[in-house]
Amino acid sequence: MMDCLHFMAPSDEELSSFVLDEEPMSPEAREHLEHCEICQQRLARYKQFHTSLVSRLYRCQCPSGTRISLYCAGLLAADEQMEIAAHLLLCPLCADEAADTRRFLAAVEPLPAPTISLRDTGRHLVATLVGPQMRLVRRGSAPATTWPRQYRAESIDLSLYLSRTSNGDYALLVIITSIHSAETANAFAGMAAELYSAPDPIASGDEGDKEDKQAETPLVCAEIDDVGNVVFSGVPAGKYILVVHLPERELVIEDLTIEPG
Ligand SMILES: [Zn+2]
Ligand SMILES: [Zn+2]
Repeated sequence: MMDCLHFMAPSDEELSSFVLDEEPMSPEAREHLEHCEICQQRLARYKQFHTSLVSRLYRCQCPSGTRISLYCAGLLAADEQMEIAAHLLLCPLCADEAADTRRFLAAVEPLPAPTISLRDTGRHLVATLVGPQMRLVRRGSAPATTWPRQYRAESIDLSLYLSRTSNGDYALLVIITSIHSAETANAFAGMAAELYSAPDPIASGDEGDKEDKQAETPLVCAEIDDVGNVVFSGVPAGKYILVVHLPERELVIEDLTIEPG
């Protein structure tokens, strides 16, 4: 590295604390930097070093490229799918990589063009909780309090995972799988899923309240991706109704509670 011998040149310490700790440089050093090519190069080298340091820090917690590819193809076990989906919410580097992989997969094996059909909902199916304890939960009984949760309606399994985000909200991940191998996860790609705030239990005592629930505006809307995952982010603790629109039917989880804390 060439050295600048000018008496106002910023020292190595000054440059590195400017780049790493965002410490302001002295006015003399800043003024000198504007005119000195050597010192501009020294600064650029520190910045480059900093960037590679940051990306290495990020990457040591990242899943391998192979696992990201398997994730994009929907080939991992449900808990691994969820682990990577949660990581992608936090890591811009892996999110980019996953986006690239999806583009690649789409080019190799064109997916059927998805169509969003919101109101053409067909049959209304209520998904019931089947796990983790495999106990039968009737309406009105105490809701489950552990995660992940497993729901089923006819041939469709819904796995729900919760992860806490840094601002205190939650990210809710729903993995949709069909027990029929003919109905692959990408058959649901592009369909809509919605999270509604549950109405006050006192106000929704009778059976005729279904239309009322559906007429409300959803709190969060999301689209099912091409491996059958849906992520609702920025969800506060509370009681919810989850509606998943699938071809010719809609699945509903009526008593979804996200406990605070
Ligand atoms: Zn200089
Ligand atoms: Zn990552």
